[in-house]
Amino acid sequence: MQIVKHPKELREICDSIRLGGKTVSFVPTMGALHDGHLQLVHIAQTLGDVVIVSIFVNPTQFGPNEDFEKYPRDMDGDRAKLEGLGVDIIFAPKASVMYPKGAVTSVIVDDITSGFCGAHRPNHFKGVSTVVTKLFNIVGPCAAIFGKKDYQQLQVIKRLVNDLNMPIKIVGVPTVRERDGLAMSSRNAYLSDEERNRALSLSKGLNEAHRLYNDGERDAQVLKNAVLDTVFPCADSVDYVEISHPHTLQHLIGVQPTSATMLIAIAVKIGNTRLIDNTVLGEDSSPLPKPIPG
Ligand code: AMP
Repeated sequence: MQIVKHPKELREICDSIRLGGKTVSFVPTMGALHDGHLQLVHIAQTLGDVVIVSIFVNPTQFGPNEDFEKYPRDMDGDRAKLEGLGVDIIFAPKASVMYPKGAVTSVIVDDITSGFCGAHRPNHFKGVSTVVTKLFNIVGPCAAIFGKKDYQQLQVIKRLVNDLNMPIKIVGVPTVRERDGLAMSSRNAYLSDEERNRALSLSKGLNEAHRLYNDGERDAQVLKNAVLDTVFPCADSVDYVEISHPHTLQHLIGVQPTSATMLIAIAVKIGNTRLIDNTVLGEDSSPLPKPIPG
């Protein structure tokens, strides 16, 4: 496994891979890797001949009062996990290399960044779309794999690639969860046992929405309230519980057609930790495993 730290070097490697008739698949991450990330790597291995994983805690997507400084970093652990999976290349640039002095260019995706996390984390998606554009320009044509755990981010990146004619195939992967339903996240490491218990309310709320949807409920407000009723008592604050169209992210109001698929997305704070989760009713399976009969 090669560790590459400079954009120019990675670009040359990727160009020569493609010149040799092989394909590249690419998994961008911020490190502190868990089984959710590793699932993206597994999918990447089925989609390309050479797998590249980037590890870069991108400063521009964190707000001034967010957790950039204390974000978990574990380069040695990450390296061992990726080596164990047979990943070919880690790209781990320094921030000063990704953002050299004098850089003043950003990429902004409008519209679908205004709600959800975009409304609560000003400039977050500007940071994401800028760094992802840079990474795509460095790696070049590839399949790029992202988690549905960051549902809005995935939609933003799909839009970006489409709007700017980037030669990148975007693949979304279902959220990987702990056995009790908690969506895996590098930020789960911040949670105390008591907070982790309360964090289970997110998947429980989504599960409740699935139960109602499966029973035929299509009133967006009823589904949203069911999630809120579960999450609100357990969270220290609720940024949002929204129910929206899964592609346009437009809010859904009133009773929807029986065939409608509906995105429910949640962002809360448990203690000082901001957690997000989501599910698409009519498309995803329920976040909690079904109880064993008897
Ligand atoms: P991050 O390191 O948090 O920026 O995440 C890197 C990639 O892993 C993103 O595409 C995330 O959506 C994805 N990811 C994070 N957690 C999960 C999860 N529990 N299941 C699937 N994908 C995930």
